Amino acid sequence: MTTIGPRNRNRHPYNTVLFDLDNTLGDRPASVRRWAEKFYFSQPGVMAKVGRAEAIEQIVRWDAGGHMFAPEMFSKMVEVWPFVRESVDELVKWHAVNYPAAFRPAPVVGRTITRMMRVGIEWGVVTNGPSFQRAKLVALGLDKIAGCVVISSEFGEDKPSPEIFKEALRRLGRIPEGAIFVGDSPVADIEGARKARLDTAWMSLGRKWPADLRPPTHTLSKFADLVQVLGL
Ligand SMILES: [Mg+2]
Repeated sequence: MTTIGPRNRNRHPYNTVLFDLDNTLGDRPASVRRWAEKFYFSQPGVMAKVGRAEAIEQIVRWDAGGHMFAPEMFSKMVEVWPFVRESVDELVKWHAVNYPAAFRPAPVVGRTITRMMRVGIEWGVVTNGPSFQRAKLVALGLDKIAGCVVISSEFGEDKPSPEIFKEALRRLGRIPEGAIFVGDSPVADIEGARKARLDTAWMSLGRKWPADLRPPTHTLSKFADLVQVLGL
């Protein structure tokens, strides 16, 4: 555990940062397009019948911003594209390997984390989803340097349960005071972290904050705005 000196405490209001993964550290839309393109070029049947751009747009629609689970998405696909020869099970397995591997960071993520680490800010990841979330962090080059990675399917509770945020702090040896959570989901990330008594930074990504929820401590229009919040 790094000790934050008095000088740093003045300059850096937070000594701990917990991050959401999809649409926060990772550029999910760009990553989905990357696996969709790889999928297209691995499917001669699809290539023969559907244009590249059209196929990628269709896959992006089926993915529905992550709201469609892989088995449903591929069930839909084999119905509409009967020339895909693999079974839904095989396609789900392909996706579990190739989607995380296609993962790419949001702009300036690497640089921001390097600066955080240089001034002794501890950080970790709290993400809802299956174990392959860890493979996304490998693709981002962040798996070995994260202070902790808490994945809901492994921990047994999903965000917004305050318990998953507390677990991440426990693994870092930190307390809620001095800690901030950064995420894009108003309920899962911001409400959940607030209930666990962390400060919050919401990645608005062009959206308005829902009027019926308590507002976040900070609103970031893009990941790069975090630099100001952390005093880097
Ligand atoms: Mg997210």
